[in-house]
Amino acid sequence: MIKYQLKCECGIEFESWFSNSKEYDRLEKKNLLSCKCGQSKKISKQIMSPQIASKKEFNSNSSKHENFLKTVNKKLRELRSYIEKNSEYVGENFVSEARSIHYDKKNVRNIYGKATPEQTEELLEEGIEVNTVPWVNKLDN
Ligand SMILES: [Zn+2]
Repeated sequence: MIKYQLKCECGIEFESWFSNSKEYDRLEKKNLLSCKCGQSKKISKQIMSPQIASKKEFNSNSSKHENFLKTVNKKLRELRSYIEKNSEYVGENFVSEARSIHYDKKNVRNIYGKATPEQTEELLEEGIEVNTVPWVNKLDN
């Protein structure tokens, strides 16, 4: 069953049930739709009014979303702390340090630092394992 909002030429709006949209089309073609005014057969289907979430629903959804973002930020900060605790920051030297560790096997350790996406791509092509991680500020909420 499908419910349509119909509008007659006379201005009356009413709702009517149909078994499906084809049945509506069939009745409309045969002018079998009728209004209680009994005068006009020009009845048209209204565009269904969009569902508008109530303020309450909207707020609860947005707080769910906020909680999600908070959790993501928390996890990312944990990831950052983990990386900081377990590896050495080499900053702008990241690419050359990563290569020297990979090729010279000298001073082998975990490092983190800065690289452009292109540099990261190059390192990966050379078989050097690197990961790009989203780096969040420690202080923001
Ligand atoms: Zn009417």
